Amino acid sequence: MVADKQSENPNEQNDNLDVLKSTQTIVQLALEKLGYPEEVFELLKEPIRMMTVRIPVRMDDDSIKIFTGYRAQHNDAVGPTKGGVRFHPAVTEKEVKALSIWMSLKAGIVDLPYGGGKGGIVCDPREMSFRELEGLSRGYVRAISQIVGPTKDIPAPDVFTNPQIMAWMMDEYSRIDEFNNPGFITGKPIVLGGSHGRESATAKGVTICINEAIKTKNLKLEDTKVVIQGFGNAGSFLAKFLHDAGAKVIGISDAYGGLHDPDGLDIDYLLDRRDSFGTVTKLFDQTITNEELLELECDILVPAAVENQITEKNAKNIRASIIVEAANGPTTLEATKILSDRGILLVPDVLASAGGVTVSYFEWVQNNQGYYWSEEEIEEKLYKVMTKGFNNVYQTAVTRRIDMRLAAYMVGVRKMAEAARFRGWI
Ligand code: GLU
Repeated sequence: MVADKQSENPNEQNDNLDVLKSTQTIVQLALEKLGYPEEVFELLKEPIRMMTVRIPVRMDDDSIKIFTGYRAQHNDAVGPTKGGVRFHPAVTEKEVKALSIWMSLKAGIVDLPYGGGKGGIVCDPREMSFRELEGLSRGYVRAISQIVGPTKDIPAPDVFTNPQIMAWMMDEYSRIDEFNNPGFITGKPIVLGGSHGRESATAKGVTICINEAIKTKNLKLEDTKVVIQGFGNAGSFLAKFLHDAGAKVIGISDAYGGLHDPDGLDIDYLLDRRDSFGTVTKLFDQTITNEELLELECDILVPAAVENQITEKNAKNIRASIIVEAANGPTTLEATKILSDRGILLVPDVLASAGGVTVSYFEWVQNNQGYYWSEEEIEEKLYKVMTKGFNNVYQTAVTRRIDMRLAAYMVGVRKMAEAARFRGWI
């Protein structure tokens, strides 16, 4: 039996929440503010390369299921493209394109020698067996093998992908390439050339941004109440780091709902009970909705789940003074404006979530040189990169009197535009 459920994808229909269009709007504005001519926007508004693949996988019941996958390479003027692969039922072509542009911006903001790339497969890994996931991961690599590689485009984990999936992908690529090639992909298990600190890197980067953001508001972490939407890779490590540093984590959520305790949740207990997809709320009777969670009174709100969570509908009800975006694209353009008019400090995704790709870069460097760094060295390097990125963006926002999202786009897009100009492309 052959099945393809792509037409049921809700993301396909909703043009209002078109992440590609809103990304293009801010890229255009950032380039205008920097004084670049229109051709630069024409070049950067879409990926330079976009591949759509069909991946046949033999399922456990012996049927063949065909999955759709994408790989977008936004721009390689600065260097090879880089970015994760997500396995999610709501993946769309437009979303993967937008995500690849965001990767370019992240690389620009934290000054990595990369352009942005991104991949996605329309699937629900929560309903697939280990063996089916292996078949899908290997099939995806076979399908995109011609356009990826350690000096071309380097994949990594993203939503619902993990070190095991990176290991299968690396193994498949190494077979095709006929030599062991750890630098093809990052986020691998440590024994296969993964880096210390990679799994918690996104959350570490977010923590560093939170610490910088609260300084600007004269707050102390120990005195803050935090709400985190999403208990996946970013959200769960972040809850642990903030809890251990003395902040009160009063709300967390997963795809099925949220938990709230104004006196602070027992984070260690929740971490212990979560499954590998970050699900934990199903174990509790007293839950709140994700919508309610976002509107809880707190100092710091961290959306760490998926896109379009804070929109013009709920932006006026947000009761945090600082929002730090650990997810990609959680706040719409309209909502950003409402929040900024309300004086809420919003640290945007392209800055706040850049810790993951930063340690991925460290992993790739270690793979290329064959010499590995300690956890302390990684932490120190990550701290330097993230604080520099934060301060560049914050200062740009203050001096230009613009919100931090536009400032981040200005900082992020500049290096790419300059590199393209030196290469004689524009
Ligand atoms: N998927 C992560 C992101 O969106 C990490 C990408 C990488 O490590 O290359 O930033």
